[in-house]
Amino acid sequence: MLKIDTKGLKSFIPEEEIFELLEKTKNPSKSRVQEIIAKSLDKNRLSPEETATLINCEDPELIQELFKGARALKEKIYGNRIVLFAPLYVGNECVNDCAYCGFRISNKETHRNTLTMDQLEEEVRALESRGHKRLIMVYGEHPMYSPEFIRDTVLKTYETREGKGEIRRVNINAAPLDIEGFKTVKSAGIGTYQIFQESYHQESYKKFHPSGPKSNYLWRLYGLDRAMQAGIDDLGIGALMGLFDWRFEVMGLLYHTIHLENTFNIGPHTISFPRIEPAHNTAITEEPPYAVSDDDFKKLVAILRLAVPYTGLILTAREPIAIRNEVIGFGVSQIDAGSSIGIGDYSHKDEESFKKSQFVLGDQRSLDDVIRELATHGFLPSFCTACYRLGRTGEHFMEFAIPGFVKKFCTPNAILTVSEYVHDYGSEETIKAVTARIHKELEDFEDEKVKLELKQKLERVANGERDLYF
Ligand code: SAM
Ligand code: SF4
Repeated sequence: MLKIDTKGLKSFIPEEEIFELLEKTKNPSKSRVQEIIAKSLDKNRLSPEETATLINCEDPELIQELFKGARALKEKIYGNRIVLFAPLYVGNECVNDCAYCGFRISNKETHRNTLTMDQLEEEVRALESRGHKRLIMVYGEHPMYSPEFIRDTVLKTYETREGKGEIRRVNINAAPLDIEGFKTVKSAGIGTYQIFQESYHQESYKKFHPSGPKSNYLWRLYGLDRAMQAGIDDLGIGALMGLFDWRFEVMGLLYHTIHLENTFNIGPHTISFPRIEPAHNTAITEEPPYAVSDDDFKKLVAILRLAVPYTGLILTAREPIAIRNEVIGFGVSQIDAGSSIGIGDYSHKDEESFKKSQFVLGDQRSLDDVIRELATHGFLPSFCTACYRLGRTGEHFMEFAIPGFVKKFCTPNAILTVSEYVHDYGSEETIKAVTARIHKELEDFEDEKVKLELKQKLERVANGERDLYF
């Protein structure tokens, strides 16, 4: 039984300081903004004061500087890879009452469902038969979804195989647990454990989380500290954009990052920044109190990229295609594709699917379409899980910190995994687009030794071998 204890804990989000910084840094000069961007391009995390200064760029010319800076950082450090994953919703029973979520306890119109082990297997087979290798498994908060249940569903997912398909990395988005609970889930060999704070602003948090364990702001805020204490050092933070001013939330994400760095010497692996999407029978999602415009959304992605240059940014299919295409160039590292968020939808889609879903997706393209479009637009789709498999945690940090890491490991592994994809699952058009991209990548390779080894491995993939990596 989960024992919620927040005695002696204090928030590490300094609300007054954030408001002051946002006030103090208004109307920044062009030279100051350029100086801050240069610091980020020099591979340094920005301070709260510097981040607030970027947030206060209102002049269209300065905003263009932010976009240019984010693009430059992406090109300089990360290259053109985009890692692909899919969400797998395991159950939507929930004891909380989050005002924005279709799964909240007071939503009597939601069809409640939890996958049985057999249904889970069916879902995983359906995902594998489309070519997915990386999943994020998502759970409501309910005594049914105990740490042991989460562990067993993850283990089941790893052991399920369909043809040449397999899931090689499972990330988790579930309620914050106690230390023992996190240890239990860790034992299944998970990747990232994500917990979104939703809003870092306490008053707003209280308003939108009126009851249930999630109503305790501090229990959630310290959730990832407990995960770290349980030995999970691969963590994802996030804020749900639209509950309070996005400017404050970006500062909250930064202070959370600084807290983890100062306490554990390691920052979050990923940051998520979903905007509120329409959910069935959920009025607040029609008109979120602090709705973020498309222009502000682009700005906030660019600012996050610059503020924490070594952290992975996740952009989900909640966003419409046009926005996704635009902000991918600002240094987003992972996107989901071919996603379904109704319980059991990958294997059995029905007409009433939205009543089983948490919200409605903006991008409903298939995985194959997304891969083809990414390749056509000069991006390199990747299903790489090599760092995780080799125990190299903090892959984003390594890409960032180790000179040549991307060229030596990430790009070749992206090429190998997307090549596997087209051999096993690609449509004719996608095979063409990806083959052209791989040729281009090989042409651009500078390291002849890696290139030769990569060509040999590609040959082996063509001959039916799978799961080869650097
Ligand atoms: N139940 C767990 C929790 O709340 O942490 C984990 C899963 S919850 C289903 C995953 C995330 O979905 C939440 O943290 C929230 O940020 C997001 N979410 C909920 N309702 C949403 C909506 N209407 N639009 C966009 N994202 C939403
Ligand atoms: Fe439950 Fe999570 Fe939805 Fe809140 S966001 S109602 S905790 S599933």
